[in-house]
Amino acid sequence: MGTSIESRTLRQRIVDLPVGRKLFHGFAALTGVLVMVIGCLFLTVARLGTANDQIVDVAAARSQAADHLRFAASELRAAQQAYVLAWPSTRQSFDEAAGQFESSLQTLRQRNGNAVAQALVQKIATGYQTFLQTDQLIWEALQAGRPVLARNLTLGAESLAFGFMADDAARFAAISEMSRADAVAAFHDTSNQARVLGVILGVIALIVMIVSSWIITKLIRDPLHRVQQAAERAAEGDLEAEADVHGDDETGRLARAFNSMLSKLRLREQALVSEHRRQETSSKVQRALEMSDDEPTALEVVGLTLADVLPGRSSELLLADNSKSNLEQAVVAGENPDGPGCPVASPFSCVAVRSGSAVTFASSTALDACPHLRNRGVDPCSAVCVPVTFMGRAMGVIHAVGIEHQVPTPAEIEAVSMLSTQAGARIGMLRTMVRTSEQASTDSLTGLINRRTFQTRIRSLRRNNTPFALVMADIDHFKRVNDTYGHETGDRAIKTFCDVAKSTLRQNDLMARWGGEEFAFAFADLDPTDTTAVIDRIRLELAARLSTSDLPGFTASYGIVAAERCASLEDAVRLADDALYAAKAQGRNCSIIADSDVAARSTNGPSTIRVADKVRSTSVGVLASLASDDDPVERTFDS
Ligand code: GH3
Ligand code: MG
Ligand code: MG
Repeated sequence: MGTSIESRTLRQRIVDLPVGRKLFHGFAALTGVLVMVIGCLFLTVARLGTANDQIVDVAAARSQAADHLRFAASELRAAQQAYVLAWPSTRQSFDEAAGQFESSLQTLRQRNGNAVAQALVQKIATGYQTFLQTDQLIWEALQAGRPVLARNLTLGAESLAFGFMADDAARFAAISEMSRADAVAAFHDTSNQARVLGVILGVIALIVMIVSSWIITKLIRDPLHRVQQAAERAAEGDLEAEADVHGDDETGRLARAFNSMLSKLRLREQALVSEHRRQETSSKVQRALEMSDDEPTALEVVGLTLADVLPGRSSELLLADNSKSNLEQAVVAGENPDGPGCPVASPFSCVAVRSGSAVTFASSTALDACPHLRNRGVDPCSAVCVPVTFMGRAMGVIHAVGIEHQVPTPAEIEAVSMLSTQAGARIGMLRTMVRTSEQASTDSLTGLINRRTFQTRIRSLRRNNTPFALVMADIDHFKRVNDTYGHETGDRAIKTFCDVAKSTLRQNDLMARWGGEEFAFAFADLDPTDTTAVIDRIRLELAARLSTSDLPGFTASYGIVAAERCASLEDAVRLADDALYAAKAQGRNCSIIADSDVAARSTNGPSTIRVADKVRSTSVGVLASLASDDDPVERTFDS
């Protein structure tokens, strides 16, 4: 168990080693093996040398023994001849020489090497036996007194053969010794060369191994190091930190995979950044539009945004008017103060509106370019058109032109589409609000403001201390008009009265339909006398208009009061009503000025009417009927 943990730890430690270290250790181990192999080689060569030296020593000893043998043989021969020539004498020297020879032969026999040498020694031994037998014959011849025979026997073939054989043995030994010495010398040379070669090869192998290990380590470690550095920079957020590694090995492929990952991350980052910017711009535009409480302000936001999202292009927003059939330039952005100037007349003539989505044109001269672009008579250009809708209904189009063949990028088109959606929603809503508010504040038959709006406006006049004359008007005997000519004619009569009365109004004057065939006027900065003159003009103009129309003749009566002199607007209305009623009482088709000084003194008491046209009256009739018909709240201005 402990061993397994240790080996795992060791293996883990090896795995954890840097690549360079791993390679270094690997090459160091190989170098060790190489050194060991070379060491063994040297050891073997050394041992061979030692063995060779031993062989040389043996050969030298054998050669020496052979020499001794040859010498002993010649001594023996000489001793034989000596005792033969000196007969009668002893054979002592011969016996000593024979002992010497046998000793030498024995030494040679001990030094014998291969089979040939052994055979030679055996032959010498046999020859020696023959020589001894001959010597026995020689001795016996001497003993027998036949010295001549003995001398002849010493010169016999056996003796000569013995001498020559000993010489041959010695010569053979010498020659074999020479060739052996040559071989030994050659062996020494070769072993020396082998040593030198081994050293050179070992050094070269070592150098090659060190250099190659250094190169291989560098080739593996450097690219890995560059990938590592790039990865560390990327981890710190630098997505441009590509690994500068080439080649098609594992490191090269790793670097390419890393670089590819980086480029995908860059794309993802760009997408996130542009999405973030798009959302930021979108919410900014949304906030700005939400703060725009009228159409011009909203259009200003659209213009600023257009300049921002379509830089370098001339753009415009064409919006449909209330009739929804005519497109008009509402906003211009870009360097050209006139905008691109698309001449499209109605939303339904616009290609983008018809398609319901953004449309781009690379060139205004292309066959498939929008006709409104191609026939515009300007330099060739590119264009983009994005419809503006509200609740699914076409409201207009955002149109921009730029350099030919340079259509906006998808991101720009998306930004414009977003703007068109937001602008359409806001402008549509503002228009709906205006329409709703107008509907709530105006009278549908005449288009005049209604009583509530009139009350609000004159309240603001009083707040601003603007003096004004309040006039209440009522068409005379209108019931008869209805009864005689029908309700439709009655309606046209009411509208005609309104047209005539409105034509006399100045910009700050107000006119409202008070109810039925009754109307209210506020003439700013006009005193009652001057107001009478205005009313007279209305009366004259009405008579003139009716004389040329198919409507029956009718008139109206008017009650006038200087509102700024009344304690309250309620009083002013009451006084004007009183005056109107007085006018009715005076025979109609006239105006009467109420005495507002009286009202100023007594707000709730009975009003005194000062008759402008030499007529005086008290408030009865109309006032009473109004008071009973109307909502008391609506008649109260300052409450
Ligand atoms: P006077 O001169 O005293 O004012 O008499 P008059 O007939 O004008 O007054 P009255 O109050 O009796 O009648 C007013 C009529 O106006 C009654 C009503 O049917 C009519 N009228 C009110 N509003 C309209 C309208 O919008 N269209 C039409 N055609 N008639 C209306
Ligand atoms: Mg009336
Ligand atoms: Mg009337």
